[in-house]
Amino acid sequence: MKLRETSLNMKANGQLRRDLEQNADEILHKVESIGDAHLMSDLETPLRKDAFELSPEEKVNRIEEKFADILQILGLDLSDDSLSGTPRRVAKMYVNEIFQGLLPENKPQAKLFDNKYRYGQMLLEKNITVHTYCEHHLVPIIGKAHVAYISSGKVIGLSKINRLVRYFAKRPQVQERLTEQIGAELKNALQTEDVAVYIDAEHMCVATRGVEDASSNTITVHYSGKFKEEAYRNEFLKMIS
Ligand SMILES: [Zn+2]
Repeated sequence: MKLRETSLNMKANGQLRRDLEQNADEILHKVESIGDAHLMSDLETPLRKDAFELSPEEKVNRIEEKFADILQILGLDLSDDSLSGTPRRVAKMYVNEIFQGLLPENKPQAKLFDNKYRYGQMLLEKNITVHTYCEHHLVPIIGKAHVAYISSGKVIGLSKINRLVRYFAKRPQVQERLTEQIGAELKNALQTEDVAVYIDAEHMCVATRGVEDASSNTITVHYSGKFKEEAYRNEFLKMIS
């Protein structure tokens, strides 16, 4: 009996291994056929190809119409003074404020300066305000970002770090992607791998609906280059605590 079970197990394991190998081959094949675009698309906000065909003004007009429909379907009387301007207010807020980071032209230009002082230690920009919107419920995620880098010879204007965080936050987001987008952009802008990003945020979709847990926070991190080493990471964590 035992022998039979063992041989059945071995058969099952063999099949499992073949399945896994086949899966791995298929995945590898898919990744190869899609190329780098696939790897990038994991990091990028999923946008349609025609995302920028409508002007911001046209987008406001179209969203206003649709949002009026939503409120009417909910049964609200849009002829009421207090509600009559709501569809347009929401449309303007979406396009010009809270989702303005979808528009590439709103991306801040990261101007670099020579690191004349030869400052070779960690630079930490702490407690950067994060106001973003969960892309699953379109309600706020509110928190702080702490961003550090070690100069590779260039330095960036400090407020540019805050502006980059803000740019990627002004989109429908998931916190994991926001963290990775900030990390990737800083590495690119600063021409260094030595970047750390730490975001601690409260999700209104967790706090005010669903499980209604108003006391939990979500922490996400991105460590690359020297920050993968324990000593640098610990120093960073000590500085932000
Ligand atoms: Zn959500």
